[in-house]
Amino acid sequence: MKIPNMLDAKKRNKNEVKYTEYNVDFNNFGENKKFYVRTYGCQMNEHDSEKIKGMLSSVGFKSAEDINDADVIILNTCAIRENAHDKVFGFLGVLKHMKQSNKNLIIGLCGCMAQEEVVIKEILDKYKQIDFVVGTHNLDNLLKVLKEKIDTNNRQIEVLSYEGDVVENVPVVRDSKYSAWVDIIYGCDKFCTYCIVPYTRGTQRSRHHEDIINEVKQLVKDGYKEVTLLGQNVNAYGKDIYDNYTLANLLKDVAETGIERLRFVTSHPWDFTDEMVDVIAKYDNIMPYIHLPLQSGSNKILKLMNRRYTSEEYLKLYKQIREKVKDSSVTTDIIVGFPGETEEDFNETLKVVNECKFDGAFTFAYSPRENTPAALMKDAIPEEVKMDRLHRLNEIINKYSNEANKKMLNTIVKCLVISESEKDKNKVCGYTENMKLVNIVGDKSLIGKIVNVKITDTKSFSLDGEYVEEY
Ligand code: SF4
Repeated sequence: MKIPNMLDAKKRNKNEVKYTEYNVDFNNFGENKKFYVRTYGCQMNEHDSEKIKGMLSSVGFKSAEDINDADVIILNTCAIRENAHDKVFGFLGVLKHMKQSNKNLIIGLCGCMAQEEVVIKEILDKYKQIDFVVGTHNLDNLLKVLKEKIDTNNRQIEVLSYEGDVVENVPVVRDSKYSAWVDIIYGCDKFCTYCIVPYTRGTQRSRHHEDIINEVKQLVKDGYKEVTLLGQNVNAYGKDIYDNYTLANLLKDVAETGIERLRFVTSHPWDFTDEMVDVIAKYDNIMPYIHLPLQSGSNKILKLMNRRYTSEEYLKLYKQIREKVKDSSVTTDIIVGFPGETEEDFNETLKVVNECKFDGAFTFAYSPRENTPAALMKDAIPEEVKMDRLHRLNEIINKYSNEANKKMLNTIVKCLVISESEKDKNKVCGYTENMKLVNIVGDKSLIGKIVNVKITDTKSFSLDGEYVEEY
């Protein structure tokens, strides 16, 4: 049993990261069995779940449409906010009942929560329904751990507190046939004081650019239209392994594979260089959409958050992006109620929001994450003050989001149609180049195509449109 240790997870050692190939051969031990994976959190987790499904499928497991038909249920968890934790612990109650009526059911837990010492202690103590845990650093060991559980019937906890290898060619079952996630960098070295990620995902480790480019070339051959490059901080790409090859180089090389649409998330303003902006502006197939977390507009709070930029520097970068990248849209993340945030600090945030007029924002009331520096800070903000600020901020964000969407009314835009609309079977939905969700009157034959769409109506969070013609 290997359980995580937060003190070890906080250390940054100088050990060289190993680059290895996935090499697991367990015959078909999953034959006649079904799995169900439930994912919480960010795009990195979505993509990790595609790898979990890929590894399970590689040894004969089939995907269960309904959770009640599954022999193995895996929760791929998120630790970024308290409510992500609560959702998982709440669902474990449901799984306890399922396990009582099906003694053979196997339940596993992966993802960022698996890396948290407090969580594992709680699981060992109170959540006997969990049969195995695998951490983020050794996810490629999933089959070994699961097989051990099946063979011995003993509970398995395998979580490393130091970075794992960069493992290439892990099997993957992608959720979409048109739009693919591609990891470019794992971990994060920014240590924003409110964030648990540097401890749950470890030090930053870039994949070799040849491996990324080959993966995208294969996706192009397989008919994929869109690729999103993934990392907790994509702008730091290459810094750990190259002297002279950055995200700007990678964007250029991936754009030149001929993929029709190229995106990347998530950006950190501090690592965002002029060269990166120039490359995004130059290539038509790099989509004009950037998610640029602001977090706060107050320099005092930015410093307490260890964000390493000032609001002036953020605004300079923001303006540069808007000026150089034609028809771009920019969204952001903002936290209100960080310890020590005064009304004045909050007004600084509103000032930046009013200047940027973001296309949209993910806004949050600060909640402390155990084991982060911010959790020890004084001057906690009362809940009602946080909620009041969040409410006021959201009103302004929604106003600008509405305004940005209204500008697109009656224009004809290119959309990659990705699925049927959930609400209306006579509609499909897709994304514009600048990442606006559009519900389109049209039939299922459009799914997987890039089509021209006329925008007929706009809302705060989506657009309505009519199919015009194939692009
Ligand atoms: S950049 Fe900051 S917020 Fe983003 S993952 Fe790294 S530490 Fe967390």
